[in-house]
Amino acid sequence: MKQETKEYQYDWILWTIIENASVTHDGSVKEYESLLTLIPHFREALDEIIRQGEAGICLMKLMARYLKRCLTAHDEGRKVAFTTFCFSTPVLYAFDVVPIVVEAMTVLGTFIFKRGTGEFLDYCSEVGFTETSCSSQRGALGAYLAGLGVRPDFIVCDSPGICDTNANSYAFASAYLDIPFFQLNHPPTLADERARRYHQADFRCLVSFLEEQTKKTLDIDRLREVLEEVRKQDELICELTEFQRLTPSPVPNIFNLFLYSGTFLMSGTSDFTELLELMLERVRENAARGVAGSRSGGERVRGFFSYIDHYTTDLRFWRWLESREIAHLGCILSSFWQEDAIYAAGRTEAAYAVRTDSVDAMIDSLAAQMSRMPMVKSIRGPYDAPHMWLDDTMLFTRLLKADFVAYIGTMGCRNTWGMVKLLARDLERRGIPTLILYADAFDDRIQSWEAVTDRIGEFLHLRGLTSGEPGLVSSG
Ligand code: SF4
Repeated sequence: MKQETKEYQYDWILWTIIENASVTHDGSVKEYESLLTLIPHFREALDEIIRQGEAGICLMKLMARYLKRCLTAHDEGRKVAFTTFCFSTPVLYAFDVVPIVVEAMTVLGTFIFKRGTGEFLDYCSEVGFTETSCSSQRGALGAYLAGLGVRPDFIVCDSPGICDTNANSYAFASAYLDIPFFQLNHPPTLADERARRYHQADFRCLVSFLEEQTKKTLDIDRLREVLEEVRKQDELICELTEFQRLTPSPVPNIFNLFLYSGTFLMSGTSDFTELLELMLERVRENAARGVAGSRSGGERVRGFFSYIDHYTTDLRFWRWLESREIAHLGCILSSFWQEDAIYAAGRTEAAYAVRTDSVDAMIDSLAAQMSRMPMVKSIRGPYDAPHMWLDDTMLFTRLLKADFVAYIGTMGCRNTWGMVKLLARDLERRGIPTLILYADAFDDRIQSWEAVTDRIGEFLHLRGLTSGEPGLVSSG
């Protein structure tokens, strides 16, 4: 790693940039526009978020607050846990533990830094971790392994079988940093009694681990408060998803990103409820006007992203979709399987419900929620088994009236690389045009962003879905 890269703490840089960005809109419009000219490297990403109005401004402020909490946790007497996006945060907030969600820290780096997180990715390999692992962890992990971030007190993660490279990253970090480690497990099925009992017992072991690490017993009143907040959030998320069924979809594409990043970082906090309420306000307005959530208000084609999104610098993925008026109808990361979700109708055994009437009910609700987190739910067993990847992708495609499905992953997504061609074949047999992209969502060195857009444009053109030409907005 270059000496200059080591000069500043990675998480501190992210916080200072986002903290400053979050107040750019506090002044007049003229001040804001003049300021954009002074930040050429971050201008497009900032403006893409801020132009979403109250919701965008709120997101920036919440991200700044979240990052500050990570930086100041130890000074304020809180423990810090390293964790993963597929680990649901409410149990950590109930223990007043600050979660550092490693993949989210990577994404912040790829969005903000023109150079991406390549040096940190490579640093992981320099200290002995495999380069074929997932780049979503390695991007930020390299900085933490190099001591360029808050030192976590312990690690909690899940999904050893769902994503071995994800789980290995945390196991490696635990050994390298010499900190305690707890990993939730899972059976290969989801909706049967054996799986349910397994998750509930496993989750109780997690609670014991957290009690041991924090030297606190679980505060039942606090847990109930957090879960009540989750319940409110679930209702709002279900309503948002419902709106995505409309043609045109009134949900701005980037709200998918707001939705899942908020859930990964802040589920169970009142901050996230506020963000969701503001997002819904905007979506309701668009729906009332009968316009799409895009900048132009138009929608030419509808896509469902069957796995993850692309996190190249400057939010170019989102801006490019907008410029082509391609509606983004969500991805695996934006499906959480609340009992009232449109996609859970008739499939209640695959969904979770939040119950707060007893301690056991609360813990069981958390166990059920955790086992339905993105990927944990649907990549655990054979791709074509009930409630698994193919089943869910077909369900979302039909419900949301998607014209096509696209797959984006990372070099480390071995579980899905092993089955994505079969998934694509099965979708195509059912008449759903499906594109497999060979890019790495977090590392442009694998395939350039330009190559990715060429592939998507070519696919849409050849399949007669759109000409692939720019729409009303210039591309990024
Ligand atoms: S499934 Fe892919 S993107 Fe997700 S954590 Fe695993 S390797 Fe990373």
